[in-house]
Order: sequence, then C-alpha cells, then structure tokens
Amino acid sequence: MSVPTHEVFNQPRPLADYNLFENNRPLQAALKLNAPQLDPAELQALGALLGTREMQTHARLANVHAPQLRSHDRYGHRIDEVEFHPSYHALMAAATEAGLHGTPWTQRGPSPHVLRAAGFMLFTELEPSILCPISMTYAVTPALRRNEAVYADWGPGLASRGYDPALKPWRDKGAFTMGMGMTEKQGGSDVRSNTTDAVPDGEDHWGPRFRITGHKWFLSAPMCDAFLVLARAPAGLSCFFLPRILPDGTRNALHILRLKDKLGNKANASSEVEFHGAIGWLVGEPGRGVPQILEMGTMTRMDCALGTSGLMRQALSIALDHTAQREAFGKRLIDQPAMRNVLADLALESEAATALALRVARAFDRAGDEQERIMARVLTPIAKFWVCKRGSHFGQEAMECLGGNGYIEENGEGVMARIYREMPVNSIWEGAGNIMALDLLRATRQADAGGAIAQELAPAKGAHPALDRLADALPGRLEQMATEPQARRLAQEVALAVQAALLYQSAPGAVFDAFCASRVAGDWGQVFGTLPPGADFDAIIDRAMPR
Ligand SMILES: Cc1cc2nc3c(=O)[nH]c(=O)nc-3n(C[C@H](O)[C@H](O)[C@H](O)COP(=O)(O)OP(=O)(O)OC[C@H]3O[C@@H](n4cnc5c(N)ncnc54)[C@H](O)[C@@H]3O)c2cc1C
Repeated sequence: MSVPTHEVFNQPRPLADYNLFENNRPLQAALKLNAPQLDPAELQALGALLGTREMQTHARLANVHAPQLRSHDRYGHRIDEVEFHPSYHALMAAATEAGLHGTPWTQRGPSPHVLRAAGFMLFTELEPSILCPISMTYAVTPALRRNEAVYADWGPGLASRGYDPALKPWRDKGAFTMGMGMTEKQGGSDVRSNTTDAVPDGEDHWGPRFRITGHKWFLSAPMCDAFLVLARAPAGLSCFFLPRILPDGTRNALHILRLKDKLGNKANASSEVEFHGAIGWLVGEPGRGVPQILEMGTMTRMDCALGTSGLMRQALSIALDHTAQREAFGKRLIDQPAMRNVLADLALESEAATALALRVARAFDRAGDEQERIMARVLTPIAKFWVCKRGSHFGQEAMECLGGNGYIEENGEGVMARIYREMPVNSIWEGAGNIMALDLLRATRQADAGGAIAQELAPAKGAHPALDRLADALPGRLEQMATEPQARRLAQEVALAVQAALLYQSAPGAVFDAFCASRVAGDWGQVFGTLPPGADFDAIIDRAMPR
C-alpha cells in the first residue's frame, strides 16, 4: 500500500485538444499577405484534427516505436522492408489526405503552394519526422517532369490524396511516395564526388535505361515507391528514376544495409543502401544530374524552413501554455517580468520565421513572374539557412521555460525533447548552413538579386530608421560581402531585412518595432530574453497565445 506523502499541484495540464490553426495569428496574418484569396477552411479543419489527443498519441507512438529493418524473411529471402508502428501509417495517411505531398502540382485554386506550406507547418507541430517522405514526394515533381513518360505514369499517384504503403508494382497502386539519393560516404555536400556507376542497358517505354551499381550513405524513407538518384553515367553525373518494384513486378536490386541510429527524427527511417545493378531510367539530360536533382532539393530546402517554423511555433505554444499555468514566487511564470522578455523574444522569432518561410512558398505559386522567380532562387537558401540555424537555440530556450519537465522524455510524452532533437536536422540535411550561404552567393551572381531584394523591401520603406539603413546598405554589401568568408553574414543580413519588411506588412506595430529594435538596430543581447526596454511584451505575448 502506498503511503500518501504529498498532493500534486502546480503541474500544468498538457496542451491538447485545441485547434492549431485557430489561434495561430502569425500564420493567419502571413497567409493574408501571401495568399489573400485563400479560403482557410481546409486549414481550420486540419488544425482541429492535428490538435487532438488522438493524433498526439499517434505522434508519440510513432516516435517511441521506431521503424525496424527487415532485411530477410524467416526463410532467408532478401526482402529489404521496413516495418513501422501503425501510428506511423496513421500519420502518413493524415498527411497525404491533407495534400501535403504532391497535390499542389495538380491542384487548382489561388495559392496551392502557400496552402500546402501552411498545412505542412501545422503538421510539423504535431510530428515532423514523417514529413520527410511527404516533403520529398512534394519536391520530386518539377524534376520528374523531365522524364515525360515516367511522369505520365507516376504523376497522378504522386498527387493522389490516398496512402498505400504496400510494396507493389506501380500499376497496382493508386498512391506513391518518393525519396532521393545523393549523399555517399565520401561526400554529401560535394556530390560531384559520387562514385555510383550507371551503365547503359537499352531503352524502353520510360526512355534510356541504366544498370546502377554503388551505394548511398544516407537514403531517407527507403520504403518509398521510387527514388531520384545521382549516378555517374558515361556522359557524367546524371539523375535516374529508380523504382523499388520494377514494372514486371520483380524487386529492383536496391538493398538496405541498415537504418541510421539518429539523434532525433525517430519516426522516420533513414538508411544506408547499396545498388547491385539496380535498374534506373534517365531523368533530364545525361551529365546534368546535379542541377536536375537540385530542382527537387530546392523544394525540400523550403520545407526545412517551413518545418523549423512549425517546430518553433509548437515549442512556443507549449512554453506559453505551461508558463500561463505554473506559478513560482507567488506569480504565474508568464507574469514574471524576466520570463515575459524570454517569451516575447521567442514569439518575435517564431513569427518572423513563419513570415519568411511562407513568403518563399508564395514565390513558387507565382513562378511565372520574374521578380518571384528571382525571390524563389534567392530566398530559398536564405530561409533554409537562417530559420533552421535559429531553430536549435529556440528549442533550447523554449524547453527551459518548462524547467526540469522540459528535459524529460517520459515515454515520448515530452514533446519539447522531441522538438529539440529534431531541430538540428533541418539545418544539416538538404545542404548544411555553409552550403546554403554559399548557394546565396551563387544565386546573387545568377540574377539581379540586388534589384529584386530592393523591390521586396520597398513596402517597408520609411517604417523604421534601422531597416532603412540596412536596406540602403544592402546593394553595396551584396557586392562587398559576396565572398565565401562573409557568406553567412550576408545571408543573415538579407534574412533579417526581409523578415522585418514582411512583419511590417503582416504583424502589428508592437511586433515590427521590437523586431527592428532588437534584430535590425542591434539593441539586443546574445541570448533570447534580451529585448530592450520599451518592447511591448503584453501585445507580443497576447498575439502568440495558443489558446
Ligand atoms: C537524418 C538524415 C537523413 C538524410 N537523408 C538523406 C537522403 O534521403 N538523401 C540524401 O541524399 N542525403 C540525405 N542525408 C544527407 C545530408 O543531406 C548530408 O549529410 C548533408 O548534405 C551534408 O553532407 P555530408 O554529411 O557529407 O557532410 P560534408 O559534405 O562533409 O559537410 C560537412 C560540413 O562541411 C561544410 N562544408 C562542406 N563544403 C563546404 C565548403 N565548400 N565551404 C564551407 N563549408 C563546407 C558543410 O556545410 C557541413 O557543415 C541525410 C542526413 C541526415 C542527417
């Protein structure tokens, strides 16, 4: 018999059964700016679903019961399958039903990419790691269209709102997922070092066919139906479409060696694989594999920024909700002045991340417009670099708002721990921080970036003296600082200027002023919670409250 020793009190009830969209005013404001015609009804419904306790339980279980590799069956046949907890499949089905994968490419409506981007952010708040195959399935379309025959067969299934995890020939499936394989042991950033070999093997309905032999050191979501992979053909590095099941129903020679033991991202399987003469079909021009597969990489880079923005919002919501319930030294934590500075500072960061990430999605909706085309090219690496870099600091500070409870896993119930472990991956994969900063230099050389950025900042002209000074200085900096050692600084400055200009257009004055004072004018410390006196904590915090 247990002896009663104490009463449990002052322990907040967890944030559950709330609509993730309804009170997300920063997201709603960013939507108004980037997609004024958009009907938010779908997001409203998705927000309600994703905030339920039932979906939270799926997210927990999918992370606690990590995927298992089944390389062989019990009779010794090689099967190369990955087994997932049913909750993983429930989450995948919810994400595809919401159209977060390939749907925008065929969807009508005013802003399909912004709509999907907002849904992707909301889903990240529930569970980020299953979004890896969802993101790749979204991202593959622009690249896959370069093989018209394959796209004609696979396009409808990539856009379908169904989910079919079975390993079957494409004709027997209504819905597909796809992944990508670039990184090898000797190089991930520098994929020109790829040694995987592609030997011509005739031609058929899907075009030039090759036998692929080699490996990939990272191949996430290996149970996808197909992959785009880089391999070295006689004409040089080329991009190939590699299905797991061949059109004749036999298994392609893609073997999973093991699953990665990762810091976070637990619900998603990431693997090491070998190709033993696997069959792949050429996508795009031979020898142009890197730019070809980077058409896919561009979209997944945007998703990294969207994903981190969603994680920030979730961490902030939990921190706000917890501190609104927990008391210390005679007051709710949220009412303690030092805590108010931390929470307001986090809220600014979260809203600025949301604004920038959604702005990138707008550029993909309006790809026919030259200014938007340049902004997509310039802002994608900037958003991926800056938002994802800020993520880990953000996660740590939000966790600290919960004190010791923030650090506790408790069988996957500790969502803050999951968020914190997830944060770094968005910064590393799809091109780590330096690679993004260097990509910005490339983007500025390729296009009239200076003119396009000036046009982007124009709506905020005269709104804040520090922003005006930065905007005036940027054309010169784009010339002087477009060097490798200064690349990160340049990316940071453009990111802050664009974030400030976006906040001017979408957020209340309290948010814009405090953002400019701290991040643009530099009246700020080196940790969160160092906003200057005069920042309107009340207005900033009220706007961010999740319920
Ligand atoms: C969980 C997970 C899943 C992944 N899934 C996939 C997948 O599905 N498919 C896939 O292809 N890859 C995948 N990756 C691989 C990922 O994209 C690479 O790890 C990443 O691109 C970095 O490559 P690398 O590991 O070889 O590091 P390196 O290329 O060795 O880079 C190491 C560091 O050096 C920096 N660096 C590199 N070059 C320069 C330079 N010129 N100047 C300055 N700094 C430089 C980088 O920014 C980085 O910080 C995954 C990675 C992880 C962690």
